[in-house]
Amino acid sequence: MSLLGKFFETNIKEPYILVCSSKSQMLFSKELLDKENIDNELIPTPKGFGEVCTTAIKFDKKHKNKVKRITNENDIEVLSIASLENKYKYNLSEIYDMNISKDFKDIINKIEANTDLNKEEVKYLLSIEDEDEYNVLIRTADIIRKECVGDRIELRAAIEFSNYCIKNCNYCGVRKDNSTNRYRMNKKEILNVVDNLYKIGIKTVILQSGEDPYYTTDKILSIVKEIKDKYKMGITLSIGERTQEEYKIFSEAGVNNYLLKIETASRRLFNKIHPDDDFDDRIKHHKFIRDSGIRLGSGGMIGLPTQTIDEIADDILFQRDYGVHMIGFGPFLPAKGTPYENESKGDLKLTLKVVAITRIVCQHVFLPATTAIASLHPDGQTLALMAGANTIMLISTPSHLRESYQIYSQKNMVDLSFTIKSTKDSKRKLPKYLNYSYLKSIGYDIDDELIK
Ligand code: SF4
Repeated sequence: MSLLGKFFETNIKEPYILVCSSKSQMLFSKELLDKENIDNELIPTPKGFGEVCTTAIKFDKKHKNKVKRITNENDIEVLSIASLENKYKYNLSEIYDMNISKDFKDIINKIEANTDLNKEEVKYLLSIEDEDEYNVLIRTADIIRKECVGDRIELRAAIEFSNYCIKNCNYCGVRKDNSTNRYRMNKKEILNVVDNLYKIGIKTVILQSGEDPYYTTDKILSIVKEIKDKYKMGITLSIGERTQEEYKIFSEAGVNNYLLKIETASRRLFNKIHPDDDFDDRIKHHKFIRDSGIRLGSGGMIGLPTQTIDEIADDILFQRDYGVHMIGFGPFLPAKGTPYENESKGDLKLTLKVVAITRIVCQHVFLPATTAIASLHPDGQTLALMAGANTIMLISTPSHLRESYQIYSQKNMVDLSFTIKSTKDSKRKLPKYLNYSYLKSIGYDIDDELIK
């Protein structure tokens, strides 16, 4: 059986969860459960059991007493051991009278009861064409978004510090064989950017690059350490596949998130678009990252050449079944000079449906309104925020380098002004943590209503 099949066929039939007081306690508990051969999985803590984007351990009800004993004997600070049957219930009563089909109403009832949707139901939602049903889908996702993560958007600042890459993904503008101006930022240049981000109050920085072995583990660690020591910021690494050992080292150094997209959960399509990668290996890397205690970021592209609705349904369910914490879905956008240069771009409405269904299926997670969707359509970011998204990635690469980091062509260089506008247009709030007096002093026009 493939690795993918193995994960979908879980041995956990009557799920319970264990929520601990900290990441170290959670990892220690996992180690103890593994030693006692108790099947378990790390998942984003479901709504009602803890904070968004923390991690819980899922196990089967039959081990409940054993888990209680183990945590007791080892002085684990347990916040909760509870049945997932008692999951948070949503109130979708405002949808009841809407003009939708009986099949859709049945799905709405399942969503309201917080019962997992199956693949056929996800495919039904993906295939919605009727305008009324589309609006109900988007509204349902928006209600769940509000319940799970509230009205404030979450900001992440991305520094694309190297566009060297040893790989040749067929869709990617910085693939090895593409001719583009190559650059690498040194530690001082990266920290200069971080310093500016710190001044405006950004809490999490994304360090992103192609797969560039020039940045050894030690080089990455030295940058991570300085950001942690001096700025106490959250760190997301997005530097491609590394070894299991490296993920552990990064976790111990305080790296909070690791972004490694599956791009597609279809083995056929994955192998077609990634000539240098192996589908089963990418699955293993997802597991390595998750088990290291770093929160896993994944996601994919919608509208890849030859991609089917069936495959997109698998993409969404993959995110749920692999316990992904941050899920970035964006449209496929062709990049100049690549084998896919002349392919058609992904569809806006289908991508928005995917964002909405992902919120409905995965719920208590961070869901970006991706840069790709903002590049596909001028209102893409606003529409994604209205369809269940809650996170925005600010492109924070120094301006003279940005044009050289074009994974796809005509990229929207999403900045703070653009984000403020999308937040306003989608009737959302900006995060509390930005330094608004400083931002206003340097010329940002920010309506106080957006901060309240
Ligand atoms: S997608 Fe990532 S790994 Fe693939 S070519 Fe582009 S930068 Fe390299």
